[in-house]
Amino acid sequence: MLPTLFISHGSPMTILEDTPARRFLESLGGLFPRPRAILSISAHWETEAPAVNDPPANETIYDFYGFPQEMYHLTYPAPVAHGLAERVRGLLAAADLPCGTDKARGLDHGTWVPLKLAYPDADIPVIQLSVQSQLGARHHVNLGAALKKLREEDVLVFGSGTFTHDLRRFRFGRAAIDAPETPDVTAFSTWMDEAIMAGDVNTLAEYRRLAPYAVEEHPTEEHLLPLHVAMGAAGPGMRPEKLHSSVEYGFMRMDAYAFG
Ligand code: ZN
Repeated sequence: MLPTLFISHGSPMTILEDTPARRFLESLGGLFPRPRAILSISAHWETEAPAVNDPPANETIYDFYGFPQEMYHLTYPAPVAHGLAERVRGLLAAADLPCGTDKARGLDHGTWVPLKLAYPDADIPVIQLSVQSQLGARHHVNLGAALKKLREEDVLVFGSGTFTHDLRRFRFGRAAIDAPETPDVTAFSTWMDEAIMAGDVNTLAEYRRLAPYAVEEHPTEEHLLPLHVAMGAAGPGMRPEKLHSSVEYGFMRMDAYAFG
């Protein structure tokens, strides 16, 4: 059975720069059996209520500004997993989580940047499920739990965020990409890692109240909530595995986990 995943996509530049996180993402597709389809939960699609995309074709969305011109020429024309949108809506409705459909939206960079590295042939059908950051962590655990049957159906539940993500720290200029990690990032990440490796979804649902520096590392929650969906979707008794850890600019942790 496929695991569910949480990966850190970091900066859109991950697609161009040679970093440990990029090299990890390039190896990701080889770590597991090939999925039949991918359900991506990206930090970069936020809606009031859950929604899946189901367009005629997956357009590549360039939802970033001021990056090198070549970034805007990269594409990821993965087929749309049409039947999967209906399946996801059905599973969520059965859990009292009504889910809408966006028939226009394609794939944002939280989805296509890591998938282009992990599955460069773009031949596995993909759809996205949105996050609702105003509804908090517990809601996203529930969203995932409603989708736990997808693993048995060879669908890869792919949570794409960033493990620590306080972009305000770029405001005084960009530190070196290999700058040493700041102590608050270490404290938060260590706390999170312990709860994740213990499979303690209930504690993680309360991370904002319990984890040191939670609000500092995630002034807004959207880049962490794909983790809660991935853990919920792995189902009870899942086995967490740490796949990757690295830091960029001293504050952006690029950790990744599988839940098998
Ligand atoms: Zn992002």
